[in-house]
Amino acid sequence: EEQNMNVTVPNNLDAFWMPFTANRQFKANPRLFVGARDMHYRTHDGRDVLDGTSGLWCCNAGHCRPKITEAVQRQVATLDFAPTFQMGHPLAFELASRVADLTPDGLDHIFFTNSGSESVETALKIALAYHQARGEGRRTRLIGRERGYHGVNFGGISVGGIVNNRRHFGALLTGVDHLPHTHLPENRMSRSQPEHGAHLAEDLERLIALHGAETIAAVIVEPLAGSTGVLIPPKGYLQRLREITAKHGILLIFDEVITGFGRLGTAFAAERYGVTPDMITMAKGLTNGVIPMGAVAASGAIHDAFMTGPEHMIELFHGYTYSGTPIAAAAGIATLDTYREEGLFDRAAELAPYWEDALHSLSDARHVIDIRNEGLVGGIELEPIDGQPTKRAFDAFLAAYEKGVLIRTTGDIIAMSPPLIVSREQIDELVGTVRDVLATLD
Ligand code: PLP
Repeated sequence: EEQNMNVTVPNNLDAFWMPFTANRQFKANPRLFVGARDMHYRTHDGRDVLDGTSGLWCCNAGHCRPKITEAVQRQVATLDFAPTFQMGHPLAFELASRVADLTPDGLDHIFFTNSGSESVETALKIALAYHQARGEGRRTRLIGRERGYHGVNFGGISVGGIVNNRRHFGALLTGVDHLPHTHLPENRMSRSQPEHGAHLAEDLERLIALHGAETIAAVIVEPLAGSTGVLIPPKGYLQRLREITAKHGILLIFDEVITGFGRLGTAFAAERYGVTPDMITMAKGLTNGVIPMGAVAASGAIHDAFMTGPEHMIELFHGYTYSGTPIAAAAGIATLDTYREEGLFDRAAELAPYWEDALHSLSDARHVIDIRNEGLVGGIELEPIDGQPTKRAFDAFLAAYEKGVLIRTTGDIIAMSPPLIVSREQIDELVGTVRDVLATLD
């Protein structure tokens, strides 16, 4: 046992420049996972940690699920790689059909990528190419939203609404504008969808009047913004966005990289909110986080606009070496089987009221200024320490980890999104640990 522990801590942590990490803080006091099963991670120092975040919002069925493991093992020994440019293999077609069965009616064409970021770039490119194909090539403008997160590639950060990203790298795409975010103080402590804010969708009419509808290709939003702090769409807001975009011939893209695959108690947020966009971007839960994979679901109208011209011509000049790669496709199919066999989307819906009550029991916990929830997502906003934004939440994250619970923080917001197999007792443990931790923090 002792020996085992030692081999799992690398001697040198310098070479790995870690993503979205305070590298110096981490390397001074590393936190390593060496195993995982179901709801728990195993740490390098031999502790079990309850996963309150589904890894990074991706392991919706929990960890090391046998069906997925076996599918990947079988596939890697059968057909390791096959090109999908001018060639194919059966599993990519099968997975595409399975995904199309889950997306809203009419969004039946699936383009595979390797990540959420690539799904976003793909959807934005499809939007521009779609308008060109229809002779409306002036529609090049893209509209995002403040506090939106659409991954880290150039298109995504430009339409995204994270100020740090945009300031450093986001000015490359011109012709991008942003809707206001929907996070209003009067909605504090709302349960599920807040009452106020549908009118913020009307701002799109203002942007249309400013730029002209004939210059706007698409609007992209997360139906529920996850990474910037769990911002739930106000009642009626998404419906209004749909009406305005449809009226002006503007495509509506839902970025469902987090909300897809059961997180809100339905396959997609589009279903939860009863609003059908023209495209949905997805990743993460598509393969339960096991093999990198993303996808874009596009409407028949979009797809069919490309299917013209000589049949030997490539219709959409876009794709990745690993688009629909066999091992990822096998993981995806086994993942969707697992979700279905275990009824996990319904399970998330059934647990949502318990989750909501548990989270809102923290309303009198120390430092808490707002609580937001939907499906199996929760956001707990903390009062920032004066002059040290993000510090209090980061301290909460470190203290929770020491107490055996993995949470995530963004700004001064704790975000939680446990695997959909979580039990009521484990919800109590998550929330109880957060309460204890907050009581001990400055
Ligand atoms: N879009 C949304 C809504 C996300 O939440 C994320 C990641 O959290 C991304 C895109 C980027 O996904 P990836 O990190 O797989 O590129």
